[in-house]
Amino acid sequence: MNTIAFIGLGHMGGPMALNLIKAGYMLQVFDLVPASLEIAKAAGAKVASSAMEAVKDASVVISMLPASQHVEDLYLGRGNLLSHLSAGALVIDCSTIATQTAITVAKVAEAKGFDMIDAPVSGGTAGAAAGTLTFIVGGSQSALDRARPLLEKMGKNIFHAGAHGAGQTAKICNNMLLAIHMIGTAEALNLGVSLGLDPKVLSEIIQKSSGRNWSTEVYNPWPGVMENVPASREYQGGFGVDLMLKDLGLAMEAALHGKSPTPLGAVARNLYHIHSQAGQGGLDFSSILTLLQKH
Ligand code: NAD
Repeated sequence: MNTIAFIGLGHMGGPMALNLIKAGYMLQVFDLVPASLEIAKAAGAKVASSAMEAVKDASVVISMLPASQHVEDLYLGRGNLLSHLSAGALVIDCSTIATQTAITVAKVAEAKGFDMIDAPVSGGTAGAAAGTLTFIVGGSQSALDRARPLLEKMGKNIFHAGAHGAGQTAKICNNMLLAIHMIGTAEALNLGVSLGLDPKVLSEIIQKSSGRNWSTEVYNPWPGVMENVPASREYQGGFGVDLMLKDLGLAMEAALHGKSPTPLGAVARNLYHIHSQAGQGGLDFSSILTLLQKH
């Protein structure tokens, strides 16, 4: 069985790595925070003391890091990992990062003889745990074909968006829409409750009416309306406000690049910025509801 290096075992990478271990793959894992490695270690992964050690003899490298800078540092900068991979290794970066960074890193990888794809995901921590993520891939068809058996162990839907960076572009379009409909959902529920409606009843009505969306369906922001969502555990876990803010920043950069108007995306970014500056950056992004509530 081929050895896989998995770098970045946070909210998403941790459960994704576990699904590969469950499928029988041999994993060498690394994260800067030792506590993040414990679950993978207990499940049978080999813990490396550096990213360089993790990629030793690995035929596939998967990374799941917070942002562009981390990915650039790992592969090209201080980590310089692309100079330490085994010959012919396949590189799969699942982090959500800037399109341009994904292209830059993939070009260097290709010049060194490595296939690389950007493969950001959608589906949240629940999808990562259940192995039902959606992968949105940028890169060559042949590199995707190599990656597919592994992606299928971590996800249910795999889309080929186009060339290097296209996965990231599609991902940030999706996340800009996610932020907008989450804020819209929070705003509508808050209005209804302020006018005397029960949030559960209003959510049920929206769910069967034209305002229905992913937030009302599986990620309701009002505490207690749904079980097993961050809103019902004080907005802990899930997809952080600061990560959403990062994605909205990427969307705004992309909008400048594409000369495309994104008025609602800009408002969404500002609201998440204010929420983060108020000290809520570590909460799940559905906590945007609390910014709208009377205090
Ligand atoms: P996280 O902060 O929980 O995890 C990132 C991990 O990377 C951390 O454990 C951190 O210690 C580690 N790390 C950082 N630099 C490192 C390095 N140089 N070497 C090794 N480890 C390093 O973030 P997350 O929620 O798992 O998100 C990861 C990526 O997935 C982000 O780009 C995010 O936008 C995206 N994403 C997140 C969700 C979600 O619901 N959380 C959903 C879809 C996509």
